[in-house]
Amino acid sequence: MSPSPASSLKIAKFGGTSVATAAQLRKVQAIIDADPQRRVIVPSAPGKADAKDTKVTDLLYLCQQIAAQGQPLGAVWDGIAKRFTSIASELGLKLDLRPVLDEVRTRIEQGANADYAASRGEAIHGRVVAALLGAEYVDAADVVFFDRAGRLDAKTFAAIKARCSGSGRYVIPGFYGTAITGEIKTFSRGGSDVTGAIVANAMDAAIYENWTDVSGVLMTDPRVVAEAKPIAEITYRELRELSYMGASVLHEEAVFPVREKGIPINIRNTNRPEDPGTRIVAERDPGHQVVVGIAGTKGFTVINIEKAMMNSEIGFGRRVLDVFEHLGISFEHTPTGIDTMSVVVSDKQLIGADKASKLDQVVEDIQATLKPDDLKVTPGMALIATVGQGMNHAVGTAARLFTALAKARVNVRMIDQGSSEQNIIVGVEEAELAQAIRAIYNEFA
Ligand code: ASP
Repeated sequence: MSPSPASSLKIAKFGGTSVATAAQLRKVQAIIDADPQRRVIVPSAPGKADAKDTKVTDLLYLCQQIAAQGQPLGAVWDGIAKRFTSIASELGLKLDLRPVLDEVRTRIEQGANADYAASRGEAIHGRVVAALLGAEYVDAADVVFFDRAGRLDAKTFAAIKARCSGSGRYVIPGFYGTAITGEIKTFSRGGSDVTGAIVANAMDAAIYENWTDVSGVLMTDPRVVAEAKPIAEITYRELRELSYMGASVLHEEAVFPVREKGIPINIRNTNRPEDPGTRIVAERDPGHQVVVGIAGTKGFTVINIEKAMMNSEIGFGRRVLDVFEHLGISFEHTPTGIDTMSVVVSDKQLIGADKASKLDQVVEDIQATLKPDDLKVTPGMALIATVGQGMNHAVGTAARLFTALAKARVNVRMIDQGSSEQNIIVGVEEAELAQAIRAIYNEFA
């Protein structure tokens, strides 16, 4: 499971804001120069330089759409080209980007697909970053492959390892690879994170550094708790629980390739390289920190079904879930009692293709097939996940959680102690979400 002890190699992935301008790239250069083990670098395309800016990837998608309508690329393309050439010239790089820019423009004008167009942000910027760092440029199209089903082809790992076997620096652009058809294919948005994780796996890296613009994953949403602290260490599973409830840090698929080899991920801040950031690891010693994070989301409906003796009615639970399945609704949780069963559904799931709510149909079908004694629908619910490995075993954790909520006068409407033993989920009214998160944070932070 753990990476070979001999490995000290670090993979450094830099996100869009870290590589958005020449000034940002100087910070990247300083970070790479500060540690000779940072030898394989995975950059994103230039992201937003400021709040009003547009990501290069978005502009490239736009170019592809303009071309598809038979219109000239005009100012949109000129803006993209200028972005790259001015970054390169501000950095004083002796790099002639004209041939590659011309080729990309021509191919987009000739009707290249959206994946090709979008991927060029990384493909072109990778050359700039490689020139800046004195690294060898490795086109991701030559080492990252997708199979017939569009999933990562396992031959990718050997290809990366073989191509980057020297002792120098390498730059592999993120976000894309080659499909089985030979065409360029991208991961989903934010996919440079995935490339970085795949490269870390392929190279048996000691660590996967993910450089971004925050000093790690925060314990909770800073819009709710302004002083929310960064998490020093969190396990892959805990992170998954938090992400599922809305905390977004890494691309969802970026965890699997590194987890497979037990390679830690370190989320770091390009603007504050002195901060240790968050380490995402296979196992952690909970110590005093039973709870690592708290995440909450609005937009759930709870359907509560009550029927005397339902616990002894064989097939009851299946029939309840059947109703949802037949209506094409996936559910989030199903807390049960002796004579009650609740189904928690995301409101998004209740909207049909025709935009109408499926809720009446759910109620009607449950009434008809299960003949419950009582059926209650509670809309406007928020779910809060309090996450921490083994917290269900830690004596008193639940008591502390519920006491904190009671003191804050939050009415807990639903409790689900996840079978993963990584979290306790509570349902509260949407209006009480922020208050509830603050109360839990203050208890455990
Ligand atoms: N540039 C791509 C995007 O904007 C991929 C990435 O930045 O990770 O989605």
